[in-house]
Amino acid sequence: MVRDVEHRFTGQIRMNRPHDLPALATLSARIGADPLLIQGAGGNTSVKEGGVMWIKASGTNLADALTRDVFVPCDLPAMRLAMMNAEARADQPAEFALVKGGLRPSIETSLHAVFPQRVVVHVHCVNTLALAIRRDAGPAIAARLGGFNWAMVPYAKPGANLAAQVLAVLSPGVDVVILRNHGLIVAAETVAAAEALLMRVVTAVTAPALSRPADPALAARGDAAYAPLPEDHPLHTVARTLHLLQAALAGTLYPDHVVFCGVSANALRDGETPTQAAARIVAQGLPQPAFLLVPGLGALIRAEASAGAQALTRCLGDVLSRLPEGAVVTPLTDAQNAELLDWDAEKYRQVLNAG
Ligand SMILES: [Zn+2]
Repeated sequence: MVRDVEHRFTGQIRMNRPHDLPALATLSARIGADPLLIQGAGGNTSVKEGGVMWIKASGTNLADALTRDVFVPCDLPAMRLAMMNAEARADQPAEFALVKGGLRPSIETSLHAVFPQRVVVHVHCVNTLALAIRRDAGPAIAARLGGFNWAMVPYAKPGANLAAQVLAVLSPGVDVVILRNHGLIVAAETVAAAEALLMRVVTAVTAPALSRPADPALAARGDAAYAPLPEDHPLHTVARTLHLLQAALAGTLYPDHVVFCGVSANALRDGETPTQAAARIVAQGLPQPAFLLVPGLGALIRAEASAGAQALTRCLGDVLSRLPEGAVVTPLTDAQNAELLDWDAEKYRQVLNAG
């Protein structure tokens, strides 16, 4: 591997592990275990050293950072050059992995590469999301981040386009970036400073969550395919609170939801069994929903829901239970949903029209 690196980069890049990679792993494991910051394989952390950026690998969980090697080294100058030249390969982080055939760098690698700071932490913080999905996200966040050097970018599919938008707002000193309908990035020169900044931002945006347990009548609405979530699950609150139910049904609010739970949220109709509801949605060509909301009663989860689907189901409850009454959400567009499903927009329109 060393020979490969020397061959490609004529010895300019050393692959020495940064001295603070273990500290970053410790921070990664800590935030990865907090469902209010990270859900499933979402989020990522990185540290740059000597032209190499070490970043969490695609498909690995930050929560596992202390029990397995989740970080992969990438060629930082080459990636930055590809982004500057708007090359298509800027969106293929595997192209810049310095160890071939190993774990692939996160699809969000470019998002880290644009920061001049050494350490970058990107989380899908539910308190941030509760603000970043709102139509008035700008003023709502400004009211909470007065003491920070922050910026916000519009929604874009995770990848090089989003990274280019972040780069465009990185005036000197900016170390907090809000990604609309997506999450939060903080950057600092050291792991300890990044952690401290993250915690300060999270504290500043944290709002109390509404909590309404499931109605006892929910049990009768389940079937073999979909069963009630545990009684204290936050998604019950969404199903039982009109303005939250309306926000959930308005559309997809952030990208990982589509990947794990399907497009938007779906409600069980009167007289319909969960299996019939799932069949109705699948017949439209949409992915089978991970959960179903039963208006007024609570929420059901698919018996076969993966760990990722369970994590993102909880995330929706955690995000929306922090949405105040009167706040209007801005869901992803049809084209943005289609892009996340790797569908072309025309196919998506056909699917929606068929429904
Ligand atoms: Zn992300």
